[in-house]
Amino acid sequence: MRPTWAEIRLDRIANNYKATKQLVGDSIQVMAVIKANGYGHGAREIATYLEQQNLAPDWFGVALAEEGIQLREAGAKSPILCLGGFWQEDQALECIKYNLVPTIYRFDMLESLSKAAKANNCQWKFHLKIDTGMSRLGILPSELSDFLNHLKNYPELILDGVMTHLASADELEKSDFTQKQIKTYKDCLNQIREFGLKPSFQHISNSAGTCSWPQAHGNLVRAGGLLYGFTDTLAPNFAITVAPALSLHTRIILLKRVPSGTSLGYCNSFFTKRESLIATLPIGYDDGLRRNYSNIGKVLIRGQIAPIVGRVSMDLTLIDVTDVEGAKLGDEVILIGEDGDNSMSAEKMAAMTGTISYELTCGLSGRVPRIYLTE
Ligand SMILES: *Cc1c(COP(=O)(O)O)cnc(C)c1O
Repeated sequence: MRPTWAEIRLDRIANNYKATKQLVGDSIQVMAVIKANGYGHGAREIATYLEQQNLAPDWFGVALAEEGIQLREAGAKSPILCLGGFWQEDQALECIKYNLVPTIYRFDMLESLSKAAKANNCQWKFHLKIDTGMSRLGILPSELSDFLNHLKNYPELILDGVMTHLASADELEKSDFTQKQIKTYKDCLNQIREFGLKPSFQHISNSAGTCSWPQAHGNLVRAGGLLYGFTDTLAPNFAITVAPALSLHTRIILLKRVPSGTSLGYCNSFFTKRESLIATLPIGYDDGLRRNYSNIGKVLIRGQIAPIVGRVSMDLTLIDVTDVEGAKLGDEVILIGEDGDNSMSAEKMAAMTGTISYELTCGLSGRVPRIYLTE
């Protein structure tokens, strides 16, 4: 096997889940958001581990029905909410077959879910998403009254949750916007109750809302980033301790001493300024190491920091180890993670490449084997 791999500390994910539970208190449920293969960490492995540790989350959150099906096939027992709803009636049928609760954000989805429920001779629960300012999924508050009247045609469908999503819970300078979203949501919830419906779940908050907007906790929060130990999408006033769960590793597969003035990699983007010891790493942008990390990235080797030199290419990347004493073929190199006193977090790497931690771990490709550790 090519020596490039990611290590995922499942125990840290479990601890991060516990820390989130502790933060919100006993009366509020926590959804472990493990969509997109658990932000690249491995959804099935996380679900299985948490349930085996007697830490079965109150909910799992996935984006797609197919992600929910994968979890059920892996044996997950906890309730699963499909944040992205379902696509047409065949998927509504799958939601019932695999015990997935869909989010509904269009009137016609009621018809599809109703047909699926009738075909199964059952009632089915759903959560209604309201667009309070994200302008993505959700019905508009102005459509709520029509929606509720329309819902009366479907006695087999149960409105069991009402949710919205905050656009900038992590930007406290935009707290007016967040406050308006929360107020709009609460007005909608009142309207639903006045209509005589009693949805069991009210939820508004992602990780940033969970940490910074206690008035937006409802009785369920949806935590993704927190679970993986990411804090770069939280407002600066967060008060929770979580630990990153994923690290990314490779090994030197070639070492080469080159003279000063040598061009490294594609496009002659780097020339050595001295005689240099250059190491080739078997990792590139096909693995999820972004090409805009070229010439700015840093890696950890033998407890020291070494720079990425030249362009990150598809399968290979070069680093300068001239100053790393004892660097030799086969040495382990850490791209994300800790090594002695030095660390290169996904957050740091993300800041250097103009993105957020989520995109980096989501972008780790299937070509990178995941190794699961529990301590
Ligand atoms: C992904 C997602 C979340 C989780 O967001 P984090 O910032 O990772 O906590 C919450 N709610 C919805 C609707 C989402 O799509």
